[in-house]
Amino acid sequence: MGLFPQQFIDDLRLQANIVQVVQEYVPLRKAGRTYKGLCPFHSEKTPSFHVDPDKGFFHCFGCSKGGDVFTFVCEHEKVDFPEAVRMLAQKFGMTLPEPVEGTSDDARRDSALREALLKIHEAAAAYFREQLAAPAGARARQQLAARDVAQKTIDELGLGYAPHTRDGLKSRLLKDGFSQGLLLQSGLIVQRENGEVVDRFRNRLMIPICRETGPVVAFGGRAMDADQVPKYLNSPETPIYSKSRTLYGLNLTKTQIRKADFAVLVEGYFDFAQLFQSEAAPVVASCGTALTQQQAHLLRRFTSKVVLSYDPDAAGQGAAARSCELLVAEGFDVNVVVLDRGEDPDTFIRKQGAARYRERLRRSQPYLEYLLDRAASGLDLGHTDKRREFLERMLKVAAIIPEPAARDQFADRIAHKARITEDVVRAEIRKAAVNRQTVVTTREVPSLGQLKPAERALIWALVHRTAEALDALSGLEEDDLEGLNGRDIFEAARSAFGVQNAASDRLPSALFERLSTMNAQLVTSIASESVPPAGLGESVFALKQLRWKRESATIERELERLQQAGIDGPQVTELLIRKTAVKQQIEETEELWRQRNDRIHGRSVLAHTRSGR
Ligand SMILES: [Zn+2]
Repeated sequence: MGLFPQQFIDDLRLQANIVQVVQEYVPLRKAGRTYKGLCPFHSEKTPSFHVDPDKGFFHCFGCSKGGDVFTFVCEHEKVDFPEAVRMLAQKFGMTLPEPVEGTSDDARRDSALREALLKIHEAAAAYFREQLAAPAGARARQQLAARDVAQKTIDELGLGYAPHTRDGLKSRLLKDGFSQGLLLQSGLIVQRENGEVVDRFRNRLMIPICRETGPVVAFGGRAMDADQVPKYLNSPETPIYSKSRTLYGLNLTKTQIRKADFAVLVEGYFDFAQLFQSEAAPVVASCGTALTQQQAHLLRRFTSKVVLSYDPDAAGQGAAARSCELLVAEGFDVNVVVLDRGEDPDTFIRKQGAARYRERLRRSQPYLEYLLDRAASGLDLGHTDKRREFLERMLKVAAIIPEPAARDQFADRIAHKARITEDVVRAEIRKAAVNRQTVVTTREVPSLGQLKPAERALIWALVHRTAEALDALSGLEEDDLEGLNGRDIFEAARSAFGVQNAASDRLPSALFERLSTMNAQLVTSIASESVPPAGLGESVFALKQLRWKRESATIERELERLQQAGIDGPQVTELLIRKTAVKQQIEETEELWRQRNDRIHGRSVLAHTRSGR
């Protein structure tokens, strides 16, 4: 952490109201003491995203994401911790202090590097624009004109030209004062095998790729000549550019998308350019490959309706099919526009105009129906075998639909097509969907189920009854925590309060700072339960008891080993003494618990642990 003084982080946390921060991205409704809304990190139609203003954390019951206000900004804006601090400080009018010297050199270097890379991209974009306007760019300008890209569009998209020279960009950037090392890291300059350092992009039409917030982070370069390979050359992944997190053009169209509440998803830069220029519809481009989950989440911030407009040969196949399925699985309403054979959005709009294209958009078909039609059209559903084949293929698709109602509707359509009873299909789909969900849940929350009820109770109390929980925790020894899945959390809590004495009101934030993402999610998911998973007192007993049982088992194993090896003597005697002592501990703890349990009635944690948890 340490890039900023701890005191500043603490002050900022107090200032930065988590409800206010979250609300800028997600509409929240008050629900009792907490707030809830639709989760920005996964797709859903009923809210499972909770914000607890008192404890300063958020948690989603759907995808288990959780954490404090800094975690939220990091996750949502895809920035690192120092950047999140900076953004929140700015938002809440707090002046950033001088970074603490020598504490987090890495973090500081990281953000300095990103900043430098952004500057390099800005300078490169300017250079490419100049080159397009210069005599060297004459052919590129002609090509753009031939594709009906107007000067206004060229300016808005920031298009440029990388000339045929070996190191035109390199010399310019060196002259601007950037070091060669930085240039290599930007990916715009490459080192050849013979050691020569040259421009990556040469004789190409340059398309700047921007973050949705505006800055240029990468380039796509389109070949000028027919024999030039590859046809499209793109920037590599860099510290500022992740292909899987970027949607081309979103920076220009996001406002429009939000307003229209839908986006047309096209494949290429020129499809984008024509839709954008003709104002046919709000558009983004996936640029060739199948959509990723991060891209879907990015788009989700602006709309949940997508019309896929790929070229007709590609729609429903390969990358397009995978994109559609991902969008459906993420809860998007997905429609498909099918243009005439040989047309893509670029050529269609140029030939027939925006009005005709909009007409096609209006007639676009829901993806699932489109898929049904396509699948059915190739098969003779009069045959039992073919019908089975069709059914199996469609059941796979149905299983990814997150909403039960939509799934049932799809089931009915499948049944109708295949002339099978609807109930049969619905039952099959439900089976498939349940299977799928189990898989997803166990993968995303690997250890919640592995925590014992007593551990969960202690974690719950750490957030809601901090003083009591710390008291309980202090009654547990190092050995009591040994081997527990929640151990890291308990140790973090101890260390947080060992340092910040009597600062129990600072939980859970002090705790979150010390936890891994997974553990932070675990804490928020447990803390979001409205009732404690078990009583605190009995949980302490249960954990102690578990420890003695673990020790007892270890002793038994060791005794058995010695016996099998034929060893006798002081070693065995010592173990037998320890065995008796542990047995006594178990009995004592059980007696204490029984006495206590006579007084207090709660959920029996011990009974639970005895039955093999
Ligand atoms: Zn979620």
